[in-house]
Amino acid sequence: MLKCKEIVEKSSDFVDGQLTLKGKIDFYWHIFMCVHCRRFLRQLRLMLSSMPYLDEKELTDNEVELIMQRVKENKPE
Ligand SMILES: [Zn+2]
Repeated sequence: MLKCKEIVEKSSDFVDGQLTLKGKIDFYWHIFMCVHCRRFLRQLRLMLSSMPYLDEKELTDNEVELIMQRVKENKPE
């Protein structure tokens, strides 16, 4: 099973539809099992949809990092 860190690393590929079939299955499996990553992914998607300039581009590592930072800061707990 993937680790939370790996989910975070793969999340931009996932959102862009760049994962392989196996990658997707692993990803979904973790999301299914892990409430933290479910929440992370939901926030990531909200975040992305509110940033129109990211629509057609792949995220760079820096951008993912920035988004991660914001997600963490906005964490309700
Ligand atoms: Zn997780």
